[in-house]
Amino acid sequence: MKKLKIGIFSLTCCEGCEFAILDLGEQLFKLTEKIDIVNFRLLEENKYPELEKHDIAFVEGSPITKENGKMLKEIREKSKILIALGNCAAMGGIHQIKNWGDKEKINKSVYKYWKQVENPAIPRLDEVVKVDFTIPGCPIVGEEFLEIMLQLINGRLLREKTNPVCHECQTQGFPCLLQQDCVCLGPIICGGCGAICLKGGQACWGCRGRIKNSKGSEEAIANLINHLTKNFPKEKIEWIKEFFGIKKEL
Ligand code: SF4
Ligand code: SF4
Ligand code: SF4
Repeated sequence: MKKLKIGIFSLTCCEGCEFAILDLGEQLFKLTEKIDIVNFRLLEENKYPELEKHDIAFVEGSPITKENGKMLKEIREKSKILIALGNCAAMGGIHQIKNWGDKEKINKSVYKYWKQVENPAIPRLDEVVKVDFTIPGCPIVGEEFLEIMLQLINGRLLREKTNPVCHECQTQGFPCLLQQDCVCLGPIICGGCGAICLKGGQACWGCRGRIKNSKGSEEAIANLINHLTKNFPKEKIEWIKEFFGIKKEL
């Protein structure tokens, strides 16, 4: 069987999602029996190898700079399937918080010569190019990347997860923080992370994005928003919605 040509690319970000792939170690090595990784900047000696044609391109990070935007469009042209890798690519990442603030005020408070500083809005990948699928999370879950790779290799249809974080939280018996006066977005967020934040006693702020295409998802969102509005200050709810960019999806 012909090996799939894969590219893994990084735009502006912390590169944590690429590290989650590297952390797969032996499992990643084993995968290379079935795929050809022709572009993976973290592993390249040459920082800017020539862009080849790909079957699948995975892109992490945000297309913030002009160079990022140009590179993203070129990747799209040369790839049959483009997959957004992680919260930055899919939802704008933590740095999109500034999209919701007064940019001039922020610039003035940070830079002396603030007028000379470019401060563009932070776009999601799908606001610049067509995105075929998303692997969510901040960072992504390495095993989920592996699972999706195997589905791609076997030509299976990719499906988004439809169970919310609450499902994974409750099946592990964690105490419900929403009932203890915390803003937790778990009821409307795509599961798959093993409710890792709840395991550490931190509420879910939605890095994996909202559940979609499942029965009752719209109703769950309306119910949660209603509950939060009645029980928490508006500023607190808005701040948490802005953190990973879920605000744009609600
Ligand atoms: S999604 Fe999170 S871990 Fe991945 S690149 Fe962005 S900030 Fe880093
Ligand atoms: S703590 Fe959050 S994720 Fe867990 S059950 Fe409560 S609302 Fe759901
Ligand atoms: S619990 Fe929520 S914020 Fe934490 S990793 Fe999972 S989806 Fe992201």
